[in-house]
Amino acid sequence: MPSAPKWVFDVFDHLLSAKSSSIEVSRIEYLSNTIKRIQFKGNLKKLNFGIGSFIDFRVSDTDSRRYTISSVDTAGGTLELIAHLHGEAPGSCFMDQLRISDKVNINPPRPYKYYDQTVERYVIFGDETSLGLACSFLPSLERNNHRFQFYLELAEENKDMASLLQLKNCTVFEKNGSFRNEKWIEELPVVQLPEWQQANFVLTGNVRSVQTFRRVLKTRSKGKIVSHGYWLEGKKGL
Ligand SMILES: Cc1cc2nc3c(=O)[nH]c(=O)nc-3n(C[C@H](O)[C@H](O)[C@H](O)COP(=O)(O)OP(=O)(O)OC[C@H]3O[C@@H](n4cnc5c(N)ncnc54)[C@H](O)[C@@H]3O)c2cc1C
Repeated sequence: MPSAPKWVFDVFDHLLSAKSSSIEVSRIEYLSNTIKRIQFKGNLKKLNFGIGSFIDFRVSDTDSRRYTISSVDTAGGTLELIAHLHGEAPGSCFMDQLRISDKVNINPPRPYKYYDQTVERYVIFGDETSLGLACSFLPSLERNNHRFQFYLELAEENKDMASLLQLKNCTVFEKNGSFRNEKWIEELPVVQLPEWQQANFVLTGNVRSVQTFRRVLKTRSKGKIVSHGYWLEGKKGL
């Protein structure tokens, strides 16, 4: 429910108040003009976190938006997210205006089943909105010796994100519509090379890119495809 009358969100907040926690902004880093990494501190001991868990933030009286937890230290009481500041919209403005010591109430993180330890190979595709997911995946991919590739479509100003976030095995593509072209996607090494045929594909980010990539993989790949569009032109929240 990305948007609703204020009273609806007020009722929800009231009903969930026993489960909600207050967290405080403890560190802020602008990785580029449009990418902001935000660390929060608080008591996280009762909360469960998994790869790709996300939080619905109430970003205005009438709007709620989803952001992925990019890393968490439950014992130390900190969690981080990576927000794409894409312009004048409630989620983007809310994340942009957060300052050190601001307090935010959150409901428990929501899980999404992206990760299966038994799978040998992973291809993780997305855009700026998927950077948090990529960071949440990386430690398990390394620890459990998976073969993996990150494929990211990023605006020119964000092309250094892979190195800034220390994302290994990462190919950065210009955000120029290529991932809306089935013929172009068919030529990608992870689609062409036999060793990636059985890989699991995790597709997030722009809905149209995700849908096009998924259509190609449906005919070419034997692995599992997990797709979760994170945003769509002209649509508020997802
Ligand atoms: C499970 C899940 C996890 C997510 N995790 C993250 C995360 O970790 N970090 C993150 O930044 N985002 C994340 N998103 C995406 C984020 O929730 C959306 O981008 C959301 O639309 C932002 O809300 P908004 O109020 O800024 O824009 P909205 O009011 O929702 O959208 C207004 C318009 O802005 C445009 N728009 C929306 N998002 C973008 C964008 N990213 N780039 C360009 N144009 C856009 C669209 O045209 C839209 O019509 C996640 C989404 C989901 C579903």
